[in-house]
Amino acid sequence: MTGNTGVDRLSIEKYLREDRLPHIWCAGCGIGSAMSCFLRAVDRTGLDPDRMAVVSGIGCTGRVAGYVKLDSFHTTHGRAIPFATGLKLGNPELNVVVFSGDGDLVAIGGNHLIHAARRNIDMTVICVNNFNYGMTGGQVGPTAPFEARTTTTPYGNFESPFNLPYLVAASGAAYIARWTTLHIRQLEKAISEAMSKPGFSFIEVISPCPVTYGRLNKEPTGLDSMHYYQEKSVLRNGADPRDTGIELNGPIVVGKFVDRELPTLRERLHQVEKKAKERTKAKK
Ligand code: SF4
Repeated sequence: MTGNTGVDRLSIEKYLREDRLPHIWCAGCGIGSAMSCFLRAVDRTGLDPDRMAVVSGIGCTGRVAGYVKLDSFHTTHGRAIPFATGLKLGNPELNVVVFSGDGDLVAIGGNHLIHAARRNIDMTVICVNNFNYGMTGGQVGPTAPFEARTTTTPYGNFESPFNLPYLVAASGAAYIARWTTLHIRQLEKAISEAMSKPGFSFIEVISPCPVTYGRLNKEPTGLDSMHYYQEKSVLRNGADPRDTGIELNGPIVVGKFVDRELPTLRERLHQVEKKAKERTKAKK
């Protein structure tokens, strides 16, 4: 059976821990679509699954680590990136993917996110952004658009949200893309590119959370969110990340924004080591 992606649809079953199913996600949630794109991307890249590790934090998206039949780790809240950093430093041959949500990666884990991007450590971060803390009841998150309603901002969010592509671009990421869960072919391609790219890659996946965020913001079903993505997505490959902020009910700029060659953390380390050895040799 072959889908539009050209990949055998049954090919992702081998990457699923079927004994863990059914999953916990609500009807209309987008996390399953994002996970499916990731698993298709794993298949598409041809990378060795035995040399791959998936790390998640806490939250609805964090459950992904429990469903994939790869070496996977469901870590503490906000600490997926430091855990993944340790894995990569300990075993540089591993292809390390962090798969987590906006609350986990950008709020409590925000410090780790910017420093991983600054270091350009070789890993891929997939951030499912549904603009709220879905699992714990729909509280406002750091990416919730201004004036969005959440259970803790019933009159509208009065904080300024993070624009994630801009944040990680300014911090030093080598690859940055954003898609929605409507754009499954583009998302799969972006994830496979990101996993093959040396350095820090970041993919934001705009995703429905109908039962908490959507219910309060005119998207009470997953299908409503899909209609919104269809009507409001604007494709702008190469867009300046400064121009990709998301306003409530406004356009969603999607595409590949950044793809640049930068020395990775390991390459910089080797560069410094080499110079230090040359200096020592010259002194003798
Ligand atoms: Fe998905 Fe929201 Fe339900 Fe969590 S609460 S599973 S994010 S729809």
